[in-house]
Amino acid sequence: MAGRHALRDTLLVTPKTKVRLDRIDPSDSHGHDRESAGLELAAGLERLSDLQDRLWAQANRSVLVVLQGIDAAGKDGTIRHVMGAFNPQGCSVTSFKVPTPIELAHDYLWRVHQRTPAKGEIGIFNRSHYEDVLVVRVHDLVPKSVWSKRYDQINEFEQRLADSGTTIVKFFLWISREEQRERFQARYDDPRKHWKFSMGDLDERARWDDYVAAFEAVLSRTSTPWAPWYVIPANRNWFRNLAVADILADTIDDLNPSYPAPREPLPEGLVIE
Ligand code: ADP
Repeated sequence: MAGRHALRDTLLVTPKTKVRLDRIDPSDSHGHDRESAGLELAAGLERLSDLQDRLWAQANRSVLVVLQGIDAAGKDGTIRHVMGAFNPQGCSVTSFKVPTPIELAHDYLWRVHQRTPAKGEIGIFNRSHYEDVLVVRVHDLVPKSVWSKRYDQINEFEQRLADSGTTIVKFFLWISREEQRERFQARYDDPRKHWKFSMGDLDERARWDDYVAAFEAVLSRTSTPWAPWYVIPANRNWFRNLAVADILADTIDDLNPSYPAPREPLPEGLVIE
């Protein structure tokens, strides 16, 4: 039986270790089974809902959730199934797309910093500043001399956020190449999913190995005590959801958010008419 912090310990990328994704099985469900997954997820979502309520009431810390993964890894599904536990008041989702001309006219962290969560809030990044060392590296959008400095810059940026009261937790959703093929095929075959599919996705798929190398560099260089990465085996959606919910709940639990005391002393036995 999995212990309380078992998934958090098991899936953590220990800082300063070299990650080899070919050694991580994207179908692993770490002793959990599909039959009990529904109940486990429900319990995780219940915890998240309660914790968020307290975090929002206390309003002195924020939580930043970063979601990354290769195309079709399940970022949208994770947001729908896990973050649905949150009261929309106090929660924001930002999806980072190809930068606009205005964004490109600034440094790469400019658009990111504007979307970091305020005190009491949970901010979810669907893609993030990590694109600036992923797609940017794979496509040579800036010279290596520029992107190679960004790992340290990102660590410093995240440390600054952490120092000012933001708890950061980063999830890398890891699917296999075959699983991506099946998901793309399903998107192509189902007219309701066509909006999610473009021929350009296949060009990106052709660069699978480059993306894996870029993700390995991210995971190896930017998992820190103040902003840890977790590699979530994501071939099975049910495991992905329960692992993310569980780790996120454990992380917020550590902050022990609590309801604030009344603004002024309250009289005893008050009956309001
Ligand atoms: P989704 O996130 O659902 O795949 P899109 O299909 O609109 O949404 O994809 C967003 C695209 O924006 C991705 O191809 C991603 O690589 C790209 N992107 C995000 N950030 C950057 C960046 N900083 N530089 C270049 N491209 C980026």
